[in-house]
Formats: sequence, structure tokens, C-alpha cells
Amino acid sequence: MPMTIRDAYGPNRFGLSFELFPPKSAEGMTSLFQHVDELVKFDPSYITCTFGAGGSTQDRTLDVIAGVRDKYDVPVATHLTCVGLTSPQIGEYLARALDRGVENVVALRGDPPKGETAFTPIAGGFSYANELVGYIRRDFPQMGIAVGGYPERHQEAPSLAVDLDNLKRKVDAGADVVITQLFYNNDDYFRFRDSCESLGVQIPIVPGLLPVTNLAQIQRIASLCGAKLPPRFVAALEKHADDPAGQFSAGVDFAIEQAVGLLEGEIPGIHFYVLNKSEATRRVLNALPQFAEE
Ligand code: FAD
Repeated sequence: MPMTIRDAYGPNRFGLSFELFPPKSAEGMTSLFQHVDELVKFDPSYITCTFGAGGSTQDRTLDVIAGVRDKYDVPVATHLTCVGLTSPQIGEYLARALDRGVENVVALRGDPPKGETAFTPIAGGFSYANELVGYIRRDFPQMGIAVGGYPERHQEAPSLAVDLDNLKRKVDAGADVVITQLFYNNDDYFRFRDSCESLGVQIPIVPGLLPVTNLAQIQRIASLCGAKLPPRFVAALEKHADDPAGQFSAGVDFAIEQAVGLLEGEIPGIHFYVLNKSEATRRVLNALPQFAEE
């Protein structure tokens, strides 16, 4: 079923996508596929897998995503970053991806490696995601390209306006779709989408949703990407401080509310950060009549 990311969205098409990460162990891989077994029942438009720094992780990304494609015949995308790779190495990775039926890329700059505060490009590599997008568009024109967008501003950007100008560079370089960083205030997404439109961005701006399922995640989310959590949501989770099942349900309820609000605003699709699990996403989708399992 060859398909690029750009075909997932349209007047009569809603792009439902799921994001996985490469597990570290064989057990993790087995468990991942058990969860994907559940997720594919919702007929996703495509599934993606994140990309980390380091050779063995990168091979795992390709193994996961090509494995998903082979098992379920669903379109897939590999994430790809500029961290520590020269452009020939990036080209070699993409050629291998294409060989294995992976026709889409989520093209990113990547974060600075652990222990470093700033991203430093390597000689012969790329400094920003727009350069990576331009390279893929030129040398792998058949591939679909998604890029990251930040409704609350990328943490390194001095302002949302500057960040939006930089997002526009990625679109002008040939991106097909923007997938947003997770966020918990729908207004931030709608404002971001309006600003993109004002700048002349015409490609789909797809909201990324991560259902929070426990209190510990809150700290991580805030420190990793700076997403703000509404106080009433934090309070709802804290009410169940000693009850993991209660936290899980409160997180799912909030994600349902968020998805309903987004769907009312005519979004092109939803990208779920599923974190290699299926239950939270399943519960959210089953609460939405247009997606619920039979
Ligand atoms: P860029 O678009 O290059 O932006 C980085 C910063 O530089 C921004 O502040 C921007 O405003 C600025 N900037 C951009 N272009 C220019 C320019 N030409 N001149 C001057 N300034 C510029 N990380 C991973 O390591 N692996 C993953 O698999 C992964 N998947 C992700 C998926 C999604 C949907 C998202 C939203 C993020 C993902 N990330 C992943 C995180 C991402 O790598 C980081 O957020 C990273 O810090 C920025 O990547 P980017 O592609 O948005 O960078």
C-alpha cells in the first residue's frame, strides 16, 4: 500500500497517526507489536518511529518501522535528525529506508546530545531542519516529509514570531505536513494554526497529542519540551495521587476533552504520541464516535 504522508490529509480524509519509539530489548519489541496489534484496529493513516543519536538506535528505528510496515501493510515514516550525521550518511540511511518500504520521513534537527546545552552541527552535516528538508526534497523527491511545529514556541527560539518564520523555512524547503509538539491548551494550537495561515503556510498543521497517564509524566513533559499543563488538569491528577488507575482515567478524560475540542475546530488529523502503549489511545479513540471500534 504505497502512500506518502501528504495523501493522508484532504477534504474527505482525516489523518490519524501514531508515534512509536525503538524499544531497547527483545521483550520491549514483542510488547510493542502487541500494542500495535491493538492500534491498527483504528485503521491509522500511518505510523512513525522516533530516531535517536547513535548507530544501533538508528538501526532499531528502521527495524521497528519496516517491521510495522511488513506486518500490517500500513504506511510508515521514519523520524530522522541531523545529530552527528553528515549529509552522505543521511542519504545512505534514507536509501536503506526506501529499500525497506519506508516512504516518509519526519525530518528534524534533533536535540543537543546528553550533557550538551546547544546543538552543534558536525562538519558536512546540517544546522537546521530546513536544510535537511531541502536535501530530502532534492535527493529523495518521492518521499513524504513531515516537520515539527511548536504551538508554544521552540524552547531555543527568542519569540514565537521568529520560530514561525523558521517553520516557514521548512515549509518553503518542501515539507508536506507539520506535526506539532504536544500541548495541553487547545487555544495554543488554534492560535498557532492561524499564525501559520497568516504567513501563507498551506500544508496541514496536525496536532500532536500525548495523553498523560500518571503524575510522574508531568514533570518530564514540562522539563523536556516546556509544555504548560492547565492547573485544573494537574489538580485532577493530584486528586488521585495514591491511585494509579485514577490518574490514568483522569489523564484519559482530559485527552478525550482535548480531542473533542480540537475536532470541533476542524483539524486535518491527530498524531498520537502513544509511547509504545495502546490503552490510553484506545480509550480516547473509542470515546470519539467517528473512530470507535465496532
Ligand atoms: P528546527 O526547525 O531546525 O528548529 C530548531 C531551532 O532553531 C528553533 O528554535 C528554530 O526557531 C531555530 N531555527 C530553525 N531554522 C533556523 C534557521 N534556518 N536559522 C536560524 N534559526 C533557525 N527529536 C529526536 O531526537 N528524535 C525524534 O525522533 C524526534 N521526533 C520529534 C517529532 C515531532 C513531531 C516533534 C515536534 C519533535 C521531535 N523531536 C525529536 C524533537 C526535536 O528534535 C527538537 O524539538 C529539536 O530541538 C528541534 O528540532 P526541529 O526539527 O524542530 O528544529
